[in-house]
Order: sequence, then structure tokens, then C-alpha cells
Amino acid sequence: MAEEKKYLYGPVPSRRLGRSLGVDIVPFKLCSLDCVYCQLGKTTEKTLQRGDFLPVSAVLAELKDKLAEGLEADFLTIGGSGEPTLHSRLGALIDGIKKITDIPVAILTNGTLLYKKDVRADCAKADVVLPSLDAGDEQTYRRINRPHSGLSIEKLISGLCAFREEFAGQIWLEVFLIEGFNTDNHQIAKIKEAIDRICPDKVQLNTAVRPTAEPGIKALDAEKLQAIAEALGENCEVIADFSLVPHGGNIEAKAEDVLSMLKRRPCSLSDISSALGLTQNEALKYITHFQQQGVIDSRKKDGVIFFSKRTRK
Ligand code: SF4
Repeated sequence: MAEEKKYLYGPVPSRRLGRSLGVDIVPFKLCSLDCVYCQLGKTTEKTLQRGDFLPVSAVLAELKDKLAEGLEADFLTIGGSGEPTLHSRLGALIDGIKKITDIPVAILTNGTLLYKKDVRADCAKADVVLPSLDAGDEQTYRRINRPHSGLSIEKLISGLCAFREEFAGQIWLEVFLIEGFNTDNHQIAKIKEAIDRICPDKVQLNTAVRPTAEPGIKALDAEKLQAIAEALGENCEVIADFSLVPHGGNIEAKAEDVLSMLKRRPCSLSDISSALGLTQNEALKYITHFQQQGVIDSRKKDGVIFFSKRTRK
């Protein structure tokens, strides 16, 4: 059987974007960073070089099929298994999407390439851009995000500031907090300084509730997250608990939707059931089936079992 090439996954409920159809446009773990908390495992190719990694026409064709099937989504979210701004035709993709649907476009990006004018121009075609900032100084940036050697924290912050000046849409900045890495008062004050320079529309706090690339990455408890949210200002909110998001009722779950979710990030049984509107028993049937086929792996974190799609070596 010919290998299925699938660029779209979902729609799945997202804490940040409602019903979100994921659009995956870069090869697995091609990224400019190698974050210790990455849910996809270690970066296989760390690069700043943009490329035409997969055909925009094929992504658009798949989207047309989804729309013809009656797709209902709050956002088309460009992200996936690596850093999406590394795709050199990101702007052409968004132009193509805008010609065939009014569904708003969001980009999940680590923001590191926004120092490049062409990347800023591409991202400015989206409606919402969700970049990341996890550190306020170079040392912490290197420790958490393990960036490509051509990057620095100042390059990231200045790129975000330049983008803010050029982009009239929404910027929702994610800060990923790890106990013992970026949570002391000094670091939070440095992050706040950077946020004050960037002026995002929202700041969203996340933490390591799922299995991470490196072992020993500790999540913050809800109280501490809330205290940091208050310190960072009134446009700051905590988004860490995926299960709090209501799911959007009539989403049809199929085996391929479950597998697409597990390809994207590790999920617990309750993640799968709440995201796809399944009972835990139904979700378990899919999991058992995939385990028998040997296409998924499981890992335990803080007493919860997470499943993820096995990657080809
Ligand atoms: S978390 Fe995102 S930015 Fe960090 S290594 Fe993983 S894919 Fe790259």
C-alpha cells in the first residue's frame, strides 16, 4: 500500500485556539532549538536554513478535501513536528489558505527566526502568531532551549519586537516554566522586562505536564503558576491544564485522528478521550489496537501513562 502523506490533523480542541485543525509543514524535529521540555523528543536537525520541505500544493489539496467534507474549525494552526517558519513557502501557503477559506490562520512558532525580514513578512499574513519566550537571559536561554549557535536571547527578543511593530494581528506569547530553570524571582523579572519590550496581546504560561525530551523536567504546581501569572501582568493567563478545555461536541473521531494526535505530542487516555469526544473505553480500544500493531510507545510521568506515535529510525 502506498504510504499515506498527511499534513493535516484534527480538528482537536486546543486550550489556546478552540477547535484547531493542525497543519504540519516541516519534517519531524527539524528545528532551530532543542528544548529540554520538547514533547517530540530530541531535535534531529538543528538549523536556521529555510527550505521548501514539502509541497504547498499538496497541503492545500488536502485542505480543500477537508473543507469539502464540511470542516468546522476555529483556527487552522500551522505548526507540527518542528519549527514551521523554517518552511520557505510559509507565506505562499497562507496566501493559498486565504483564497479557499475564511477560517483564521494561527502559527505556532518558537519565534527564533523572526529576526529575518522574510520570516516576519510570512508570519504577518496570519491572524494570530503564538511565539515562545522561556528565558530572560542568555544563560537560561541556552540551558532550556539549547539554540542553534547562530542564535541569542537578544536576537529572539529583538526579532519579536520588530515583528510587533510590523504586525497588526494578535501575538500570544507562550512562556514555558520549568521548576529550577526559569522560576526564581530574578528570572521572572528578566522575562517580564522582555515582555514589556515585546508588548504581546497575551502572555500564556505553560509547564511540563507531559513527557519531555530530557528526563527530570519538573512541572510547576498550579498555585505557583498563578502567582507568576500575577507577577507578569494582567494580560497573562495559565494554560497548562489541557483537561480544563471543553471539547467541541460533534467531532468525529477516527483511528487516524487518534494517531495524528499521538504523532503531534504524547497524550494520556483522558487527553485522547476529551480531545476527540470519546469515552475512555473507546480511546482504550484504539490504544490497544495501535499497541498490537507496534506503532505507538508509552511512557509514564508523574503516575500518568502517555502514548506517542513511534518514530521511524
Ligand atoms: S519545543 Fe518546539 S521549539 Fe522547542 S525543540 Fe520542540 S519543536 Fe523545537
